[in-house]
Amino acid sequence: MQADSKWERVRVGKVIRKRGFKSGAAAITEGVTKEAMNYFDKTGMPFSSSLILKAAIVFVLLLASFTVHPASAKPTNEDELKTIFHLYNSGDYIGAVSHEESVDLLIEEKIEKVDVPVENLNLQPSEDFNIIEERVFESAVPNEQETIVQLNQHLAIKAASFALAVNDEIAVYLKDQKAYDETVRQLKLAFVSPEELEAWEAAQDSTETLPELKAGETRVTGLAFGEKISGYSLQAAPEQVMAVEQAVEFLLNERGVNVHVSKEQKIEEVYKHDTAEKEDGNLYIGESKVKVEGKDGKKELTFAIREENGQEVERQETAMEITEKPVGEVVLKGTKELPSVGTGKFEWPAEGGYISSKRGKRWGRWHNGIDIARPEGFAIKAADHGIVKAAGPAGTLGNRVIIDHQNGYETIYGHLKSIDVKKGQKVQAGTKLGKMGSTGRSTGVHLHFEISLDGKTKNPLRYIK
Ligand SMILES: [Zn+2]
Repeated sequence: MQADSKWERVRVGKVIRKRGFKSGAAAITEGVTKEAMNYFDKTGMPFSSSLILKAAIVFVLLLASFTVHPASAKPTNEDELKTIFHLYNSGDYIGAVSHEESVDLLIEEKIEKVDVPVENLNLQPSEDFNIIEERVFESAVPNEQETIVQLNQHLAIKAASFALAVNDEIAVYLKDQKAYDETVRQLKLAFVSPEELEAWEAAQDSTETLPELKAGETRVTGLAFGEKISGYSLQAAPEQVMAVEQAVEFLLNERGVNVHVSKEQKIEEVYKHDTAEKEDGNLYIGESKVKVEGKDGKKELTFAIREENGQEVERQETAMEITEKPVGEVVLKGTKELPSVGTGKFEWPAEGGYISSKRGKRWGRWHNGIDIARPEGFAIKAADHGIVKAAGPAGTLGNRVIIDHQNGYETIYGHLKSIDVKKGQKVQAGTKLGKMGSTGRSTGVHLHFEISLDGKTKNPLRYIK
């Protein structure tokens, strides 16, 4: 199928036709996308067939002209006949020569002078050039030298090439079909890796179904040109022939050839757990508790991806598989009304600390409560449930909070640096009332704490541990 560089002789009667180029029927069409398929030429190879037709017409015309040639009208004696060579260019008669070697020499000289842009280019006379042999009695040919001069002027040296057409329009000329094949391959390799191309081509040739994709894998499921890409043997001017690399660059950047790649991709993703809230009557309003700890699962997503010249233009999720089920978190939310009536039991009203002063006589004065100093933290906490009766500055006690426990008991908290609650607010045992301080009459940071029942102060040490 390669362009044949050897000159082909075809003998027809007395006329022998020589041609510099064998118009090979090699023609290829690449796989194209559906849109481009519409451009498909029904006949397949319009160029090469029209060339053959043209050559045939020229040939018939030549034959016709020779039937009226006086030399062929005479009776012939083979021994007396000599051969002369008629030279034609594009059907125009240039002249005749008595030795074809002079033509060969000229062709070789002309070929020598051609600057070849691509290595190992197969140079040859244009296929428009024809030599017709004729057997004649008299071998004397007039103006032979002038004929060679004319031939030198008109004969074009061409390169055998393989044209690459985009939508049936020639875009580049390659050295041969091998270069054409490599160009097509390199166009694809501009957007897929050699491994991807190899795997895809192997899959094309195989009838077996592909193994299921693993998470983290991507594979090519479609590879086609956006345009109809075809090729066929054709002579070209030597300087028009491009090297593969140059052709690929031109086709992608100048001619705008598009390579459409479809891919299948599978990825693993975290499947986030959800969280459900559940009401719980055993917890107070505002309280919550995690009943079931949530745990994320895993899922595998499969995508169908479309790329045009490496740019992702479409991505569709085609499948989702849960490989590890997530565990939904369950959080209990309290619905129980907050208690405002005390239990009669009292908790330690501070964050750490120790008793620095007890209830009783002190420096000649009665000390109505206990003092708690050297705290680990500075939070002052309600000793039992109740309602804030008073909160604010109060003389020698500084910033002070009184809680009415609604059961006859009241507690007092003094010398606070700051207060977090308001009068009338419901508090529970442990609710933070403020920060320990040294406001009012105080010799250092401590909490003054009192308990009273029905208006009479009690010894707090009998109630708190
Ligand atoms: Zn005190």
